Amino acid sequence: MNLADQVKAAGVVGAGGAGFPTHVKLEASVDWYLANGAECEPLIHKDRELMTHFASQVIKGLTLAAQNAHAAPALAIKKKNHQAVAALNKAAAGTPVQLYYFDDYYPAGDEYELVHTITGNLIPPQGLPLDVGCVVNNVETLHNICRAAEGIPVTDTFLTITGLVKKPLTTWIPLGMSVIEVLKIAGGATVTAFSVMDSGLMMGKLITDLQQPVTKTTGGLIVLPTDHSIIQRYSRTQKQMDRIGFSACDQCSYCTELCPRYLLGYDVQPHLVMRSLGFTAMGKELWNSFAQLCCRCGLCTLYSCPEALYPREACIRSMNDLRQMNKGQWQGSRKVKPHFLKEMRRVPLKQLVQRLGVHSYEKEAEFVELPIKPKRVTLLLKQHVGVPAKTVVAVGDRVSRGQLVARVPEGQLGAHLHASMDGKVTTINHEFLVIEE
Ligand code: SF4
Ligand code: SF4
Repeated sequence: MNLADQVKAAGVVGAGGAGFPTHVKLEASVDWYLANGAECEPLIHKDRELMTHFASQVIKGLTLAAQNAHAAPALAIKKKNHQAVAALNKAAAGTPVQLYYFDDYYPAGDEYELVHTITGNLIPPQGLPLDVGCVVNNVETLHNICRAAEGIPVTDTFLTITGLVKKPLTTWIPLGMSVIEVLKIAGGATVTAFSVMDSGLMMGKLITDLQQPVTKTTGGLIVLPTDHSIIQRYSRTQKQMDRIGFSACDQCSYCTELCPRYLLGYDVQPHLVMRSLGFTAMGKELWNSFAQLCCRCGLCTLYSCPEALYPREACIRSMNDLRQMNKGQWQGSRKVKPHFLKEMRRVPLKQLVQRLGVHSYEKEAEFVELPIKPKRVTLLLKQHVGVPAKTVVAVGDRVSRGQLVARVPEGQLGAHLHASMDGKVTTINHEFLVIEE
């Protein structure tokens, strides 16, 4: 088996984003293979902890992937993460891996930013790193590539449990455990009226069902009081956000002036998108087009807008509208030139944390190795980009941890799925399978 086949067999997907199947990325020959360790979501420290405690696996995964792609391996890490930097330097000694040290700003880990900072290349509008000879993988994905090469499948996700919990920590969690069970591992919530954000305050989602299972892409659970302004803001409906935006946006354009994609040279202008809120279909289409290159980083909504409006959400709705009209393809200029004030307008993470009102929840959340034995897991058949995996087990079958339970149909995009505990399959439907003790 070559590396791409081993990674496919192990069910590895992009751990830092939407869950793109990693074996597909390994089929390309590129100039650069980039490891993304420039974690920037406030309060989440799982990449820092992974690089500190599993540095050799990250470096080995990166070296294997880069060799496979005939590429130069490089790893982006924040300067402030001294222990992780030391561990990586030790692990990278004698390998071709080069470390790149980033300052502490948001969104340092955005793919477009990362590719530009390391290689100097700018990805074309709506393009991929591949378009400029790069592949980018999150560091957890590279750790999983290393394990795949040893024949070990993905059964756990590495995540930070933090905020209002008794013992904030980072650890490996078996896939399919429910959010409420995972919170218990950190001692449970310390208040009764709490809400949980999934994988980040900026780009994550508000969890509405605590029975929801963790997946290969869950990077963190952040517990906040339900009356916290962030939770209140994520609880609004699109209609409420549009109504407030239509009546209160004064077109100050701060959202655009601080937009990282705009500053990188892409024609994203959220203040113009906000105008679409007051227009009917014809005018809307024009204003919507200024949303097409948005990366959903959330800075405009949660940091820049002095009126606490929702330009990010307006951009997301605009992109959806255009896609529905079959006009999702970028028609504007292909030229990209960074703004001359780009470096000066970077948003320091500390400032962002203050603005979000979460500085009192900032905890180290260090890695703790725990013997976690769930009684029940719910494995979603689609935890990745592509089609759902097809089950290869039946109700009543006994399975063991690491056993293949669902596979991607031949010739289709997707990822295999493995049991995350020993037990009996008790439910199978078109969305998930359940394994119980
Ligand atoms: S920053 Fe807020 S008020 Fe200003 S243009 Fe953007 S959405 Fe409107
Ligand atoms: S979410 Fe806002 S700040 Fe971020 S890229 Fe989109 S428009 Fe720009």
